[in-house]
Amino acid sequence: MTTERLYYADSYTLSFEADVLEVTTHGERPALVLNRTYFYPEGGGQPADRGTLNGVRVLDVQSRPSDRAVLHVLEAPLQARRVTGEIDGERRRDFRLHHSGQHILSQALERAAAARTLSVHMSEASMTLDVDRVDIAPEEWEAVENLANRIVLEDRPVRAWFPKPKELAALNIRKLPEVEGRLRVVDVGGFDLTACGGTHVARTGEIGVIKVVKAERRGETTRLEFKCGERALRDYRAKNDVANRLAASLTVGYWELPEAVGRLQEQNRALQSELKAARERLAAYEAATLLAEASQRDGYRLVARAFARNADEVRLLAQALTAEAGVVALLGAAGERAQLIFARSADLSLDVQPLLKKALEALGGRGGGRPNLAQGGGVSADLAQVQAAIEAAAALLG
Ligand SMILES: [Zn+2]
Repeated sequence: MTTERLYYADSYTLSFEADVLEVTTHGERPALVLNRTYFYPEGGGQPADRGTLNGVRVLDVQSRPSDRAVLHVLEAPLQARRVTGEIDGERRRDFRLHHSGQHILSQALERAAAARTLSVHMSEASMTLDVDRVDIAPEEWEAVENLANRIVLEDRPVRAWFPKPKELAALNIRKLPEVEGRLRVVDVGGFDLTACGGTHVARTGEIGVIKVVKAERRGETTRLEFKCGERALRDYRAKNDVANRLAASLTVGYWELPEAVGRLQEQNRALQSELKAARERLAAYEAATLLAEASQRDGYRLVARAFARNADEVRLLAQALTAEAGVVALLGAAGERAQLIFARSADLSLDVQPLLKKALEALGGRGGGRPNLAQGGGVSADLAQVQAAIEAAAALLG
């Protein structure tokens, strides 16, 4: 019991009637085998159709390897001797025009870039194909696209048929698959001749446009992503919108964007280094002021103080303070993720880690470091709480 595949001869009919030959299951789901179907089962890189049988959703369509029966996998069980099938037309159209577009693109790649197609992957998310070249130059891509789109614009007829063995032997077919039995051949307007069981357009004009949107190297092959028809339009719309918005916000033409962004990056790098230098100078001044008022201990000066600023600035201040000889700096940054930064000058032997441990007992949070520099915290704490934690640590110093 097998299924007559009506889509071979006609990939436009979306509504049909058929007899149920078999009620079965596929995986966990109920499934029907019909005597005839327009539903395309997954295969040849093309995903299966969707739609309904007597109003019950068809979740998947698969070809049964043992007898090539077409399994219509259903959302719910269906008891019927005769069914009305309805195919999701938008999805069918999308894969139909992309599949024909892929044949044209593969042929154009061979002719204009000497790149052979190794595999094809079509899905709702993306359409990709892998070719056996890795060094395709920009002008070659342009030639490939120009050639492919010329075939689209010429609105050539597409024909699919099952040639007799003698006729088949005489055909110059681009890609011969390993299938048994009759071989279906698709002729795209005399431009490309390929063995294929997929759904195709009647004329190439339906494809609208063929655009390669991305190409990336994968080992010794290149994976390229392409878009046709409405997918290409949506992609163009999205990219045009982004380009226009960026151009408006930078007050340049969209073609000047790469330069404008380059200038911004350069300015940003220059500002970063100026800011770093200014912060370091400021920290040195501030360190001098703090040291002037530091409490004199036995063999060192102690600065113990919390700040309401970010931890990076406070760390810089701790470094500036301990760059001087004989200084212990117990500093803190209050905020959502408060930080304690404890440091001492290189000429001292005091270990600041037990001091941090003590302060973290009061503040909460985690931390660690080395004898000369330790940092911790990460909890939300205001200025008074951070100051209290610092004082708890300073108390250990006697
Ligand atoms: Zn194909």
